[in-house]
Amino acid sequence: MGTKISIYPGTFDPITNGHIDIIERARVLFDRVIVTIALNQEKQPLFTVEERKEMIRQSTEHIEGVEVDDFGGLLVHYAQGKGAIALIRGLRAVSDFEYEFQMALMNKKLAKNLLTVFLMPNEKYTYLDSTIVKEVAQLGGNISCFVPPFVVKKLKEKFQTGKGD
Ligand code: ADP
Repeated sequence: MGTKISIYPGTFDPITNGHIDIIERARVLFDRVIVTIALNQEKQPLFTVEERKEMIRQSTEHIEGVEVDDFGGLLVHYAQGKGAIALIRGLRAVSDFEYEFQMALMNKKLAKNLLTVFLMPNEKYTYLDSTIVKEVAQLGGNISCFVPPFVVKKLKEKFQTGKGD
């Protein structure tokens, strides 16, 4: 049996404890998890790709078998190029389902041997996403239970230097 590789794609702007929970669970199932930043997103991210990669690296140092990358173009092509057998997605609530279901069906049409694996985070992370973390951080709220210490620091820096723009 070869190495089982999975791909965890997302925006990770920034990575949160919810994402990390999913990465830890994915590692139970797969030998390697490639956490990869989607470049062709319409949303305007707060952090650059390099900043986001650095935050993912720092936050997953304790987990073996994790790689950090980015990709453009079709996710299934990227995954096939990496020799992956599965895509990982996190499912928090029913509200995630419709979009995730559509994506999974489309990806299955495009690459029928590539699995999509949905993982549920610990319930304490079900309300957590990067957007709400950024909003609270910008308003000066305490976000230390939602993101790792390195990310807390980066968010503080971003909003301090951003002031007066
Ligand atoms: P995207 O822009 O693709 O939604 P994100 O970085 O926000 O990118 O999320 C990447 C993946 O992680 C998605 O599958 C998303 O559902 C999942 N995810 C995000 N936050 C959480 C969380 N708190 N718990 C579990 N899964 C999550």
